[in-house]
Amino acid sequence: MSITPAENVVIIGTGCAGLTAAIYAARANLNPLILEGPLPGGQLTTTSEVENFPGFPGGVDGFQLMDSLRKQAAKFGARFEQALVQSVDFASSPRELACAERTILAKTVIIATGASPRMTGIPGERELYGGKGVTTCATCDGAFYRKMEVAVIGGGDSAAEEALFLTRFASKVYLVHRRDALRASKIMAGRATAHPKVQMVWDSVPVAVTGVPEGAVSGLRVRNVKTGADSVLPVKGIFVAIGHVPNSAPFSSALDVDQNGYFVPVAGSQVRTKVPGVYVAGDCADHVYRQAVTAAGMGCQAAIEAERWLAEHGG
Ligand code: NAP
Repeated sequence: MSITPAENVVIIGTGCAGLTAAIYAARANLNPLILEGPLPGGQLTTTSEVENFPGFPGGVDGFQLMDSLRKQAAKFGARFEQALVQSVDFASSPRELACAERTILAKTVIIATGASPRMTGIPGERELYGGKGVTTCATCDGAFYRKMEVAVIGGGDSAAEEALFLTRFASKVYLVHRRDALRASKIMAGRATAHPKVQMVWDSVPVAVTGVPEGAVSGLRVRNVKTGADSVLPVKGIFVAIGHVPNSAPFSSALDVDQNGYFVPVAGSQVRTKVPGVYVAGDCADHVYRQAVTAAGMGCQAAIEAERWLAEHGG
């Protein structure tokens, strides 16, 4: 396995946090190396219109926003490499990042690995995931469900957004939520519940995805938590939108994480960890705000911290 000289800054992740860190680090002439994971551009590439990113009064397409951030980082000299970090040695100096192809040495590291969709774990979900009817991305897969009935599971902004997006294609969208009020922001909740194609399925938990023997979703069995009654929604597509799990596993033994796996920075900082020169940014370290703009802000902070650390310790 090859080992090359230590990088000044290695940024892991290419979502809003990672790419903003890349812009700042590249502009500071640190020649950062950006490691790109399985979803280049991060979660925003799977969303449609982003209406709340400052500077875009008419909204901006999520994919386009991320593409622009990437180009901006590349313009200042950021280098990109596809690599998955499998484990780390943060006791060594420089720090070691073990990837499948090689081990990367880094004087400073910014972890911006984001979060992945949480799944319900109900029978049939895993078996029918992907092209068989269960998915987590309406923007990616919504068009496959033209004139069909679909279900969205969840009650947050993601679920409301997915449901609204799906109304463009589906004949009917069931929004299945385990309580009788959405967690989503007022504006999103109002739009979703008022849409004529959206039918709310309140107080209901998903119990099973039907259609496993046939190899394609034929329905979603749900249980009303108040009455205990089961029913089957006759849907061909099921969109799971029940939140996310932070992508912190390869680093969790070297850094502090909370009970849900989110990185815990040291007191007084949003991005500094207990390991000097190692920073965290974005959704992997933020279970409170989880916004594109807050992730970008953390990426900026982490890059400035890395720059200062290198200036003090020799970059
Ligand atoms: P979220 O706010 O954590 O909501 C998750 C939803 O899934 C909740 O309604 C929760 O129910 C439900 N849920 C969780 N586990 C479940 C389970 N096992 N079975 C059934 N239901 C379950 O997640 P999110 O919607 O992905 O949003 C994440 C963050 O991104 C939020 O801060 C949100 O504001 C933001 N976001 C913003 C926008 C936008 O501004 N346009 C769009 C998308 C996301 P309970 O309500 O009962 O807990």
